[in-house]
Amino acid sequence: MVNRGFRRRRGRVCAGLLAVGLLFGAVSSAQAGPRESADATIVDSTGRAGRTAALTFDDGPDPRNTARMLDVLDEHHVEAVFCLWGEHVRQHPELVRRIVAEGHTLCNHTMRHENMSTWSPAAIRQNLRATNAAIHEAAPGAEVRYFRAPNGAWGETPRVAAELGMQPLGWRLSVGDWNRPGADVLVRRLREGIAPGGVVLLHDGGGDRGQTVEAVSRFVPWAREAGWEFTLPARG
Ligand SMILES: [Zn+2]
Repeated sequence: MVNRGFRRRRGRVCAGLLAVGLLFGAVSSAQAGPRESADATIVDSTGRAGRTAALTFDDGPDPRNTARMLDVLDEHHVEAVFCLWGEHVRQHPELVRRIVAEGHTLCNHTMRHENMSTWSPAAIRQNLRATNAAIHEAAPGAEVRYFRAPNGAWGETPRVAAELGMQPLGWRLSVGDWNRPGADVLVRRLREGIAPGGVVLLHDGGGDRGQTVEAVSRFVPWAREAGWEFTLPARG
């Protein structure tokens, strides 16, 4: 895909800029830096009208299902967002590299899925930086464009994430895939719940997400047929 080639080249440019930045001590704490300046708005849409939606996958990378999900997305040429735990990144850095190499976008989901709703900005900053450091150790130069608070317990996190160059990322549709109601139920909830511009919350990690993989493999071709386009979350 043209897009992917562009992203790969861009990754190398980022890495080059990062090296220059380090030389002059000018690099930001977000390291690779945001594509556009982030603010504290919790983005839950594609920022576009019409039949567009964004697929986002939380709690990985996970050796059981992340690679299978990547296969499904590749088969259907869908670019998605992966919200990673720093601890899981350290355990499975090769999966992070594959996510980046296949043109997907990264999101910081804290080190260990901590509830930060009552944390001080300084404590939040430390955790988010550690998570990004783990990601950059696995995939040097990779851009971490978004931050999502575990369980939507935002507290002071949106402001801190924005300071670190990451856009807070919410969602409009959640289908309860962590409860494993069966792929048929998940497909039905996705079909009935998808709405123009909506960010969709799904999971590739945090448990066995085989049902989610199957549901996405059935939902995406149906959605395409119905005229839906998959894109990234953005401020409107
Ligand atoms: Zn989560």
